[in-house]
Amino acid sequence: MTKSFDINSLVRANIAKLKAYSSARDEYSASCNDMVFLDANENPFNNGVNRYPDPYQRKVKELLAEQKGCSVNQMLLGNGSDEALDLIFRAFCEPGKDTVITLPPTYGMYKVLADLNEIENREVLLTKDFEPNVEEILRIADAHSKLLFICSPNNPTGNSFKAEKIRALLTNFSGLVVIDEAYIDFTSNHSWISEMQNFPNLIVTQTMSKAYALAGIRLGICYASEDVITILNKIKPPYNVNELTQKRALDQLQNLNLVERQVNIILAEREALIEALQTLSFVDTIYPTDANFILIKVDNATQRYNELLEKGIVIRNRTTQPLCENTLRITIGTKEENNILLTALKQLT
Ligand SMILES: *Cc1c(COP(=O)(O)O)cnc(C)c1O
Repeated sequence: MTKSFDINSLVRANIAKLKAYSSARDEYSASCNDMVFLDANENPFNNGVNRYPDPYQRKVKELLAEQKGCSVNQMLLGNGSDEALDLIFRAFCEPGKDTVITLPPTYGMYKVLADLNEIENREVLLTKDFEPNVEEILRIADAHSKLLFICSPNNPTGNSFKAEKIRALLTNFSGLVVIDEAYIDFTSNHSWISEMQNFPNLIVTQTMSKAYALAGIRLGICYASEDVITILNKIKPPYNVNELTQKRALDQLQNLNLVERQVNIILAEREALIEALQTLSFVDTIYPTDANFILIKVDNATQRYNELLEKGIVIRNRTTQPLCENTLRITIGTKEENNILLTALKQLT
């Protein structure tokens, strides 16, 4: 890593100056059970959720820190990882002035957030084998390029990027590198969290929405240096992760065996589905996948998509995405769901 990395040169001036809102629960946490709390204008009659939630989600973070091998101060939890991504934009990107770099075809939310925050989005297409074009990324980056978004395993292509490509970007890009690991639990690749000590410009996001089976509670996790987390904590809404979400996340984190069992079933189903798809004449290409979905190229994606829809099966048509002409993205379901899909596909000619 370049020795000159200084987070204070990346943060927006107004954010650097900002004094964070101090909530009642910032000052005294509800975990001190023997105290009388008359500070937050709550209804005192206990029903499990009458009190404001812990603004720093300490219990969830302590468990995550143990499991992920990092410190509680290197984490920010958000209302989905989408909230964490939005906070990163707002902390580091000056509207109308700064730029970010994204690598299509990829997750659509980075572009939406760039537009929402009035930040120019410089797009550098992946190469034909769906890898980052390192040279081109570094060529178009300039002093205003604050963020680079790397989604690995990538949505919608499904592949993990080569470690040496990501390492080259972490080493040579002078802004923050956000690695979105929403699908990390479906690969045998290690998370980049373990590289945070080596790269002060690294931010990793993960989510409970996919492998952890909790899309409905909205919980995303951002891992970064303490310096970055301190800045994000300053601007996050005080009670951004509600009590029910924190409780449900804790339950699931204490039940990782279940998560692992389900992931293993999904992986076995993924292999079975790939094998079956190979026998279909209108399927051209099945791209390698490290995620809980498969991207395939077919003869006519929009036609196949509509035919499945008529049979009550909803998949994702990705044909309008760059490099993805005539592709469909299929999420791995239960064995029963996958069999329904296969039966329907076999009826198409
Ligand atoms: C599904 C997905 C997410 C999840 O976002 P949440 O807001 O945590 O549900 C993040 N990134 C990518 C690439 C995804 O596909």
